[in-house]
Amino acid sequence: MEQDVKADRAKPVPPPLGLLGELNNAPTVSRPVEQVQSRNPSVSVPRGVPPLTEAAARTALLRFVAARRCYGSRAAAELDIQELRPRVTYRYRLETFSESRLSEWAFEPFTKPGATRPPGDIPPDLWDVEVGVPPLFQGQTRRCRVPRSALVRECHRCHGRGRSQCGACHGAGWARCVTCRGSRRRLKQQKRCQLCSGTGRSRCSTCSGRGSKTCTTCQGEKKLQHFRQLVITWRNNVFEFVSEHHLNFPGELLSKVSGENIFQDENVVVCPIVDFPEPAISWASRRAIAEHSAAFASSSRILRQRQTVERIPITEVHYQYLGKPYLYYIYGLENKVYALDYPERCCCGCTIL
Ligand SMILES: [Zn+2]
Ligand SMILES: [Zn+2]
Ligand SMILES: [Zn+2]
Repeated sequence: MEQDVKADRAKPVPPPLGLLGELNNAPTVSRPVEQVQSRNPSVSVPRGVPPLTEAAARTALLRFVAARRCYGSRAAAELDIQELRPRVTYRYRLETFSESRLSEWAFEPFTKPGATRPPGDIPPDLWDVEVGVPPLFQGQTRRCRVPRSALVRECHRCHGRGRSQCGACHGAGWARCVTCRGSRRRLKQQKRCQLCSGTGRSRCSTCSGRGSKTCTTCQGEKKLQHFRQLVITWRNNVFEFVSEHHLNFPGELLSKVSGENIFQDENVVVCPIVDFPEPAISWASRRAIAEHSAAFASSSRILRQRQTVERIPITEVHYQYLGKPYLYYIYGLENKVYALDYPERCCCGCTIL
């Protein structure tokens, strides 16, 4: 019976539909807020990190080879580097920190007479409930009570009685004796059953013979206080774009490395970047801001936006080994290596990425 009580608490019975209709009178729709626009930023590209040296290019390759079982390290140590060609690609990122609000009905046993809301007192709009400023650009959910939204009603489970029928004895207060199974006698001895004193029944231990127990929904208080619970969700929505580099190099590798931050702009709402030396970045900025504004400005409120441009270095390393030309790439500030045609590989099918 313990379990029964726990299950009751975990899953409270919802209020009847009619009552919900009566309670659902305040609007739940979010209200868009006027946004302050910043000016279109124009970006000039500063000088970047110094180009890679031959020694650094070799070190990166040796580290790459050491981490792979199928790659021999002799070629990396002995190969003859012919040329280092620095290339560059840009990553644009827009982060939109948004807040959405909705309310759901909740209830609790009503224990404080007089705490009910006076008639005609209307709960505030969800957007007018003050909740404090959350940490920016971090996802989070918070719940709080909407002021002046409480309504007190008779408990719908026990209909205001405070007690509900005992599930173990179905309200009888007694159960069949477990020793004589109701026959009043011990089977073998044909003597009167001692446990039930020959009555064939025993008192229900769950309800102590009362036939009912305290209602788990109102915890015996007979009344419930229904109130609106405000659920606030903050999300950091990210748009990312990497410019084309026209190299024989899988673009998805670039999303895993860091670049040099060359531009950052933060405001309530940012404006598209104009005149970036790489036109695709200005275009991505325009598209990202339009997409985020369409997705979040009507259903939620945009609290802050941040756009960044990073320069991701890529170096093409041309080299010769045993008289034949080869090529590998070093990318990102971490100096990661991509070597498609490394000469010294035993081919057992391990990944080359
Ligand atoms: Zn009982
Ligand atoms: Zn008995
Ligand atoms: Zn109740």
